[in-house]
Amino acid sequence: MFDLRKGYDFPPFRPPNEASSALIRVTRGCPWNRCEFCTMYKGTRFQMRPLEDVKRDVDTAAEIFLGSRTVFIADSDSLVRKDIVEIMEYVREKFPDAERITSYGRARTLRVLGPERLKRIREAGLTRIHMGLESGDKETLEMMQKGVGPEEMIAGGKAAREAGLDLSLYVLIGAGGPDRLREHALGSARVCNAIDPDFIRLRTLVVEHASSLEAKLKQGTFRTTTPLQKLEEVRTFVDALEVTDCQFASDHFANYIWIDHECVYDGIAGHLPGDKARMLAKLDRAIERIGSTDGDVQDVTILHERGLVGHL
Ligand code: SF4
Repeated sequence: MFDLRKGYDFPPFRPPNEASSALIRVTRGCPWNRCEFCTMYKGTRFQMRPLEDVKRDVDTAAEIFLGSRTVFIADSDSLVRKDIVEIMEYVREKFPDAERITSYGRARTLRVLGPERLKRIREAGLTRIHMGLESGDKETLEMMQKGVGPEEMIAGGKAAREAGLDLSLYVLIGAGGPDRLREHALGSARVCNAIDPDFIRLRTLVVEHASSLEAKLKQGTFRTTTPLQKLEEVRTFVDALEVTDCQFASDHFANYIWIDHECVYDGIAGHLPGDKARMLAKLDRAIERIGSTDGDVQDVTILHERGLVGHL
């Protein structure tokens, strides 16, 4: 029987598709923590949790999530730990039924680890990496202070793929603003094509309160995109994709668009390349409808500006 008095340090953030996973926090915060749009760990000093604490939490999580088939390792860049192989082996031992063990990973960390070391981590138990690409456009990445350029994104992503890890890339819609919309869309497609990941996931930029990006917005050095521009950006991105075996998802409500509070676009999803024409057709219908309406068009940017959604 699980004893709540034991305590359990679980991560504050995880991808939506890890909602049912056993959550294991092996680091706290983000070792980079400078991306302009991100407030997730702004008040958190990056820490490696002591190995014995991590193992104790794995034991506890194994009681809470008894028989769990998916495990998520957090926080944002846990593969920087020198003892990550030992941790993975322990997780694998305590979750013998796990079919998927996932972690976030920064491109630089993946590039530095390289395919051989990543392969060793995979053999120890890790099966999947979520990597925040955000953009494949050099200027957009620099403006967002991502700390990684397109070529390093490609090197990190390819290292994970070569190691046999499933790779999920996040692309941040609106990251280039209207000024670099096309470069952001095409650059992101170029990097995705070079990596050829297993998954591409869309997230729409929200300028969070107290983020560095909010200051740029107030100064007028960054502008957000309209709902129609976002759809055109996604269309340009998807049209330029030449991935060979990739699941595409818009698995977050931040990608939705409403007219007069009715959801008229709930994102695109499918398997590429086979579903590309269907996904583009859905985008074209949404562009047509939203471009011709007199109604009140709302996306997450507008709802956030109106104070109707909080921190995402
Ligand atoms: S987006 Fe990722 S890498 Fe950037 S500060 Fe946030 S957690 Fe760190």
